[in-house]
Amino acid sequence: MTEPKPLVLLVEDEIEMRRFMRASLTTHDYRLVEAENAQLGLQLASSHNPDVILLDLGLPDLDGLLVTKRLREWNKAPIIVISARGQEDDKIAALDAGADDYLTKPFGTGELLARIRVALRHGQASPKESEKKIVIGNLTIDFEKRLVFRDDAEVHLSPTEYKLFSLLIKNAGKVLTHRMILRDVWGPSHANETQYLRVYMGQLRHKLEEDAARPRYLLTESGVGYRLKSE
Ligand code: CA
Repeated sequence: MTEPKPLVLLVEDEIEMRRFMRASLTTHDYRLVEAENAQLGLQLASSHNPDVILLDLGLPDLDGLLVTKRLREWNKAPIIVISARGQEDDKIAALDAGADDYLTKPFGTGELLARIRVALRHGQASPKESEKKIVIGNLTIDFEKRLVFRDDAEVHLSPTEYKLFSLLIKNAGKVLTHRMILRDVWGPSHANETQYLRVYMGQLRHKLEEDAARPRYLLTESGVGYRLKSE
């Protein structure tokens, strides 16, 4: 028995972009439904139950942030927002509203497919709370014992560093905004204190990366947040 091909919902008003993405996705074994505006996108999300949603933020009828919020009220499919340069604030707001990742135009087929693969993995792996251990590259976290290893050596993390690293590794491959991380690790009243985060990310990189100046895992998403690289 072969697995059914994943279904992608593409909400995008630009014909050229749709053509490019249709070619990329259908030659790589995805099924695709397309909407050229937000209203149709919302309808198709409900009628077709897609495995992943690609959502352009600059749509003619509704703003993508609002679409993200509406989808998140009832739909659990991962959302990857597509933004043009100059839509930085919209992109961050959409991520904060529950989108899973973003692509900035222009992007290539390789990047598109990689992001979809990660999003699909996250979509399937939602009841992951029981997971006791995560290994990514040479990094290991043992949630039961609250221990972190680099190669086979235990790394001592402060409680805050541990909280930050747990959050990143549980969401490996996914971009987390500054605000999301701050809210989760430090609490809602610290959601704007990005300097805390910068300091702690620096410390984590020193402890976990071979070269803190050129991290392999703890990546900066410029102007947006951080991502722990998973592939
Ligand atoms: Ca557009």
